[in-house]
Amino acid sequence: MVKKSTNETMDNIISLAKRRGFIYPGSDVYGGLSGTWDYGPLGVALKRNIMQLWWKMFVDDREDMYGVDAAIIMNQKVWQASGHVDTFVDPLCEDTVNHRRFRTDHILKDAGVDAEGMTMEQMDAAIEEQGIKSPDGNPLSKSRTFNMMFTTHVGASSDATSVSYLRPETAQGIFTNYKNVVDNFYPDLPFGLAQQGKAFRNEIAPRDFIFRSREFEQMEIEYFVNPDEWEVSFDALLKDIHAYLEALGLPQDRIHELEVPEQDRAHYSKRTIDIEYDFPIGKEELLGLAYRTDFDLMNIQNNSAKSMEYTIKGTNTKFVPHVIEPSFGVERAVMAVMSAAYTEDEVNGEKRIVMKFPEHLAPVKYAVSPLLKNKPELVAKAREVYQILKKEHGAVMWDDNGNIGKRYRRQDEIGTPHCVVIDFETIEGDGTVTIRDRDTTEQRRVKITEL
Ligand code: ATP
Repeated sequence: MVKKSTNETMDNIISLAKRRGFIYPGSDVYGGLSGTWDYGPLGVALKRNIMQLWWKMFVDDREDMYGVDAAIIMNQKVWQASGHVDTFVDPLCEDTVNHRRFRTDHILKDAGVDAEGMTMEQMDAAIEEQGIKSPDGNPLSKSRTFNMMFTTHVGASSDATSVSYLRPETAQGIFTNYKNVVDNFYPDLPFGLAQQGKAFRNEIAPRDFIFRSREFEQMEIEYFVNPDEWEVSFDALLKDIHAYLEALGLPQDRIHELEVPEQDRAHYSKRTIDIEYDFPIGKEELLGLAYRTDFDLMNIQNNSAKSMEYTIKGTNTKFVPHVIEPSFGVERAVMAVMSAAYTEDEVNGEKRIVMKFPEHLAPVKYAVSPLLKNKPELVAKAREVYQILKKEHGAVMWDDNGNIGKRYRRQDEIGTPHCVVIDFETIEGDGTVTIRDRDTTEQRRVKITEL
């Protein structure tokens, strides 16, 4: 009998992630590096499955999407023209005693004040009026802006002309290739360019596991539309986003749409919806969908003096297309999937932790074991079954460590949907194996050929 309870806390998920080889703190042997995380063997597999599903649903299965993979380090003019050099900033304040630094809006949020849409001066005023102190109980300084881009230098000199940045978003690498793709493929409007890849933000205070990291991965689409028809594409993309979240196995009732009010939107955006998710840390942004008008392409056109116009086929009608941008963060998707999967239940009186990943996301699909590892004939047969399954499914694990009960517990914790055990009946009897279901813990005997 399976009795379910849930104890899905951040600490439990972080602990499982480390214990079972999903995600480790970055540079851990040297004391760590705040805001960086390393994926272990199972984390890589889970993350890849999440990213590949996205690529399949948003690129491979569609006619209107084109993939690109741009360089992370780009000409500094990209970031000047996009406004990132001047305005990609967060408000920073300091504990006046121990000089720890904080994001002012997060200090307010933690004190129960919504700082969305406030100017920096308004935030400082709210801190003063309400007597809000640093988490260490000391007075806070006035705020200043802090640019979140990591600066680097390209080449052997390091002067103003060699300055570049680690990209803080993948979007600009899409915009700078818009013209190339139009010239090569001449797609009909609307069409999109999609990219997956690393982004870097020197977050003032990284926190909440991988939710706010300094190095993370994004999956972004810039969808180019005729300005008269943006609403149709916006609604269609919103539907596609929900279909993807469903395929990730995220429960509907934990997904929320936040219609971002005008005063909180970027000045160029006519409509933005943040998709929020009930994470164990609370309701927070999972991804964004923004109608960005022609802001980005016009910036490029004005600063590069190259035309970004699109000509409607067979006509003389030319215009700079408008853009709708779905912007997903991979780490937040991983965290949402892990938190949705995390389950504690009781099987015949014994407590277990089980990660109920949808099968297509599970890092390991089958675990194969000989009942006893000191019986060569069982091991040989199990190896044979392992090879057959591995050829078919790839993500198959050989597991002969500890007794069967221990193996099941371990496979439950990494979310393996099927455990296959080879016993004496397999070799002496009818050639069947035991296959155990992760969620129900039911065991059946099936023929090897039916696996
Ligand atoms: P937040 O308000 O939470 O800082 P944002 O509005 O700055 O996020 P965007 O610039 O819209 O985020 O980035 C798009 C997506 O990239 C976000 O929805 C999120 O999934 C992801 N993302 C942004 N910053 C981080 C980060 N520091 N760590 C992990 N993912 C991030």
